[in-house]
Amino acid sequence: MTRSTGKMLADRARLLGPNVSTFYEDPVHFVKGEGVWLWDADGRRYLDCYNNVPHVGHCNPRVVEAICRQAGTLNTHTRYLHDMILDYVERLTATMDVALESAILTCTGSEANDIALRMAEGMTGKRGIIATDATYHGNTALVSQLSRSNVPRVGFGLEGYVRFVDAPDSYRNPDPDGTLFAQSVARQIAAHEEAGTGFAALIVCPYFLNEGFPDHPDGWLKPVAEVVREAGGLLICDEVQSGFGRTGTHFWAHQKMGIVPDIVTLGKPMGNGHPVGGVVTRSEILATFRKGYRYFNTFGGNPVSCAAALAVLDEIEAEGLVENARKVGLYAGEQLERLRDKHEVIGDIRGSGLIFGAEMVLDRDSREPASDFTDRIINAMRHRGIIHSKLGRHKNTLKIRPPMPFSRENADLLFDTLDAVLAETPLHP
Ligand code: PMP
Repeated sequence: MTRSTGKMLADRARLLGPNVSTFYEDPVHFVKGEGVWLWDADGRRYLDCYNNVPHVGHCNPRVVEAICRQAGTLNTHTRYLHDMILDYVERLTATMDVALESAILTCTGSEANDIALRMAEGMTGKRGIIATDATYHGNTALVSQLSRSNVPRVGFGLEGYVRFVDAPDSYRNPDPDGTLFAQSVARQIAAHEEAGTGFAALIVCPYFLNEGFPDHPDGWLKPVAEVVREAGGLLICDEVQSGFGRTGTHFWAHQKMGIVPDIVTLGKPMGNGHPVGGVVTRSEILATFRKGYRYFNTFGGNPVSCAAALAVLDEIEAEGLVENARKVGLYAGEQLERLRDKHEVIGDIRGSGLIFGAEMVLDRDSREPASDFTDRIINAMRHRGIIHSKLGRHKNTLKIRPPMPFSRENADLLFDTLDAVLAETPLHP
């Protein structure tokens, strides 16, 4: 059945319940994807500057073929022996520090973070967690407690185990070497200890993507890593968004930030849309978790998921996609500079590789966020066939995070359109 947009929205509310979020005032209905392009139900083509799940491109032929081949051969769970999961974990862990040598595979990033927090409890015997106040790490009962922007109404008593630090903000609150952030984490560690919860782990996205990807020099997380270690806690890096070469300079953002975490969690881009996530850690941490918890995941690490995930790694390597992200990211930075010279509303530009964007402000001196304006820009861009979004504490930072095969020509189309939209959109409606 092909539904009209109106019927689709009504059926979503009826069948999926109220408050199922959609992007855009005029929600879009995609029916086909290829590389960096998407097509809607009317046959209109859009440039995808937003989606990081199709990391190596929508419907990537290598990934599609790998999924079909394995699905046509065998799909089971990890209680039977299979090479695919071993081949994958070997390849994956080879991209990280030698200490990070073992993994659990999951179906989502939320599950991965949930496991990581339980691992921290297993290792430390404590439960106190620290996160930033403008992040998102997933949707399980435990992990959803880490979100301040959509605080769950039912806390299951878990809310007392989480303490927050201010999200880093290089534009309004510079902390050039990460010492202020380390100090604020140290204060929350002390508060956890004082309250009797104790300190188990700090969980951060090493590139702080959800927080608006502040501009930090390489190595910025070193001071906070030291504080966490000295306190006997674990450092969890959530690379669900920042991983697999997204930043262009390193395969993992924690490498860019100069640290070796105790646990790395993965998701979104890992299977190019096939639902696979993971937790990579040291073997002693994994062994402690396996002894302390009876953990089994029916779908996690099944042969089809591993085939998809292996094909993603192959494609990144074969097509030089990390280097592409670096080069196109640098070009995008130059284009954003050009736009900043023309448009007063662009207060700050940031990013690395294929995560980049600009912070919109009503006034460059006061830096007052232009949140409503940003919303209108995103909707106008959608009508001109460019898909992207916004993020950060004030929801005024353009979030541009395209599939990794994004080219200079794609960037030209994006910025020419953005230039026109910024010129024609009034600051106040
Ligand atoms: N961590 C981060 C940083 C995320 O952005 C997300 C999803 N937006 C998650 C975890 C949760 O992943 P999932 O939706 O696969 O559970």
